[in-house]
Amino acid sequence: MSTSPRPSISFEFFPTKTEAGHEKLIATARRLAEHQPDFFSCTYGAGGSTRDRTLNTVLQLDGEVKVPTAPHLSCVGDTREELRQLLETYRQAGIRRIVALRGDLPSGMGMASGELRYANELVEFIRSETGDHFHIEVAAYPEMHPQARNLEQDLANFARKANAGADSAITQYFFNADSYFYFVERVRKLGVEIPVVPGIMPITNYSKLARFSDACGAELPRWVRKQLEAYADDIDSIQAFGEQVITEMCERLLAGGAPGLHFYTLNQAEASLAIWNNLGLSR
Ligand code: FAD
Repeated sequence: MSTSPRPSISFEFFPTKTEAGHEKLIATARRLAEHQPDFFSCTYGAGGSTRDRTLNTVLQLDGEVKVPTAPHLSCVGDTREELRQLLETYRQAGIRRIVALRGDLPSGMGMASGELRYANELVEFIRSETGDHFHIEVAAYPEMHPQARNLEQDLANFARKANAGADSAITQYFFNADSYFYFVERVRKLGVEIPVVPGIMPITNYSKLARFSDACGAELPRWVRKQLEAYADDIDSIQAFGEQVITEMCERLLAGGAPGLHFYTLNQAEASLAIWNNLGLSR
């Protein structure tokens, strides 16, 4: 792997339910925009639960905050017609990048309501509907997708997305740089050449992080967990330790050839910016 001269940097947000939350999101985005990131992205509730909020947030970030913004789009629970309409709306608004996902339906919504079952089918659909208009990002799982039967099948399924026309990938977050390097090495052996950008989750709060990580299959290493547990409610120490651990992991990732970093901001600027500054990547 070779080291890129200028790593790409992107920030992910989620659409909020309240007006106050939305204003805070936009203020966070404006702060991050000062540092000229390559793009923002905004998540989508599978089954269309955030359809309008994602759309409005993306249009505002792209149009007013003036950072190219990629909507996430998931296929479970949406019909082809619903997906087609959203794609057309984004195309007409001048959006050029999209994060294409299968998604996870909230419990109780079942699995049979969508017409496309897997993200590779969504990538194919976007290509067939809109040609080369969109730069398509897909998800990657260095520690394996939680529902995958085994690593070989999961890697093969990742390759399907690249072969269907994805341009690049963003990983689920992880705290073990070796899992990323191993993943990239294995997909290269399958002939997949697209850039795989590590998704970075800053550590700011132990209990939330432990819950999230269990749900998405990201392993919190024992030594990190034990240290965070020991800090209990001492938020300052948790944040200082978290910043150091994640900065060191990012240094290793970039030195080992990762083409950039994608921050899961959880709509907060400070933690991501601190890591970015520590890395000397500020623009
Ligand atoms: P897929 O690539 O379809 O994979 C899902 C599972 O099916 C895997 O186990 C895979 O091995 C298997 N598989 C894939 N293709 C096939 C096939 N053709 N045949 C058989 N098995 C197959 N979720 C949201 O709801 N909204 C978001 O905005 C969102 N944003 C995300 C952003 C990033 C960067 C990441 C990493 C995840 C995001 N997620 C989001 C979570 C994601 O939707 C879930 O992890 C979901 O369970 C899988 O989505 P996927 O696109 O990776 O699915």
